[in-house]
Amino acid sequence: MTLTEAGSKRRASIHLVAGTAALSAHDPGGLEVLEADAAAFAAAFRRENHRLKRALTDPHLLSGIGNAYADEILHRARLSPVAMTAKLTAGEVERLYRATVATLEDWTARLRAEAGDGFPEKVTAFRRGMAVHGRYREPCPDCGALVQRIVHAENETNYCPRCQTGGQILADRSLSRLLKADWPRTLEELEARRPALSAAARRPRGSGSG
Ligand SMILES: [Zn+2]
Repeated sequence: MTLTEAGSKRRASIHLVAGTAALSAHDPGGLEVLEADAAAFAAAFRRENHRLKRALTDPHLLSGIGNAYADEILHRARLSPVAMTAKLTAGEVERLYRATVATLEDWTARLRAEAGDGFPEKVTAFRRGMAVHGRYREPCPDCGALVQRIVHAENETNYCPRCQTGGQILADRSLSRLLKADWPRTLEELEARRPALSAAARRPRGSGSG
């Protein structure tokens, strides 16, 4: 048997366990969204109060949603990655549930079709066809605004300021430290500062969200 770790961070590990009890000790307990209904999703999601990006990717709350898919889910749901779970309305949680199911089903189908009968070879978090993840400064496929980012310690969150944050550019700590007061707070301000890019940002490519 050959085991490979495709990630550059080399954090994969393998555990040998005996019995289902020993195995379940490794289960962080997050809800399997594709096996759950909207009510179960809402209950799991609202169990703790966190920023949406953090809540979506927390394996103790929801199972199997990584950094890339969380960005795609939030874009599809038209919700800000930094909104707090406790502040969401019932309608927004419902929208988030539907976006989560749709995104997971959509990408499962795409990746299955891509792999065919073979073994999936290209393991990457950056996939062609993603709306915002890995697309910093590229136009949002739904509205044409330039995709923005927040850089964390190891990850990056990408979002569309027009579709998700009401035109607000979220402070990126690493960038905002460099730019200090110069960091634009709104989409309009950002576009005003980047005349070369603002034309592309105003040209819508799609006809809205699906
Ligand atoms: Zn957009």
